[in-house]
Amino acid sequence: MLAGFVFALPIFAGKPVPGNPDFPDIPNDLLQNADEIPAFWVSEVDAIASFLKEKVKRGRVMEIGRTAGGRPILAVAYGEPRKGRGTTTFSGAIGFFDVRAYLGPDHAKKVFVGLGGVHGGEFEGIVGVVNFISVLETGRDLRGREWPELTAAAARIDRIVLVPVVNIDGRVRIPLRMEPFAGTDNRYHQYFNTGTWKNGRPIGWPTIKEFIPLEFSRTQFPGGYPNDAGVNLMHDDFLGARQPETQALLDLMSREKPDLLFNMHTGAPPENYYMRMHRPAAELRLDAVYEELYRTVHTALALAGLQGTKDPAIEAAKPKRGNALVNLDAALNMHCGVLSVVIESPSHSFAGRNRQGEVVPHSADMLLDAQLVAYQSGLGFLADNGGRAKWAPK
Ligand SMILES: [Zn+2]
Repeated sequence: MLAGFVFALPIFAGKPVPGNPDFPDIPNDLLQNADEIPAFWVSEVDAIASFLKEKVKRGRVMEIGRTAGGRPILAVAYGEPRKGRGTTTFSGAIGFFDVRAYLGPDHAKKVFVGLGGVHGGEFEGIVGVVNFISVLETGRDLRGREWPELTAAAARIDRIVLVPVVNIDGRVRIPLRMEPFAGTDNRYHQYFNTGTWKNGRPIGWPTIKEFIPLEFSRTQFPGGYPNDAGVNLMHDDFLGARQPETQALLDLMSREKPDLLFNMHTGAPPENYYMRMHRPAAELRLDAVYEELYRTVHTALALAGLQGTKDPAIEAAKPKRGNALVNLDAALNMHCGVLSVVIESPSHSFAGRNRQGEVVPHSADMLLDAQLVAYQSGLGFLADNGGRAKWAPK
């Protein structure tokens, strides 16, 4: 059998894994985990559910909804939520020129939401949320490393809600815990993230967005972008026939009315292969706040050695215009006024290049550090600058 022969070639050291019976044509040479998986790399749905059950004592675990495939979406909440209701809708409050009419009597509270795994094949953000929960529970990530500044920043926020995996269907579909590292070759990440057509050709980005819903029968493997209904949750039919995952997020936003949301993805720019925050298609009045947030987070990443240089003047310079897409973050902003931003991580599975064209791999440790530094600086920003009611009250 050709597949068996290919598998026998030790191109990349890995540990074979069983496939997914729903997608029997996944090539054997792709069905392998990284040879050594750090204990902190908790990325699989069952392992996360066990982690939440056993380790969450200070927070409260809640099911915020079910996926198209009927799977529970779990969140963990810390602190006291906003109490009392506003007198109008978010849109009404904007029309009334006072967002506090929507936020209600305790509009001054500060509420943060973190999302992992809106795309099921993007493991870095999932591992990041799990380790963030560990820090909130114990002061330490799953390596045992203390994060006193993150703990202190979190203590200044009234309410934190974390969803380790939004697209549970997409994550469950991928039978790997950690992809092998393949140098500058993104074969594992591309296959499992954006999928492959029946004829073996990668679907790839951005073609994966040309077909929503994606018909799985046309694919050898549909990747981790879509839920079980074939829908990429970043580009749902937000104001029409929404997916249950989107509805669960909208309902969560209605209850929590967050100020700031980090939507953690994997997809750093290949020519500057470091964590980057993207400008959302949000209300124009939040633009200056976004730019200050961007400066804060990229400064923290640079000083932590997690950007191309350690110079904030380079790494945290004013973000470019023109890449703001109407997507989930725009929908969440329109729904409740949250400043919702995508943050793209490099992948553990392949290396990109820095601005000088040199190949820059990222260790699993660096990837986790970047996740936690982003949360630390984001929470610090929210604590220092106040939330929605302060940013653009009138
Ligand atoms: Zn993504």
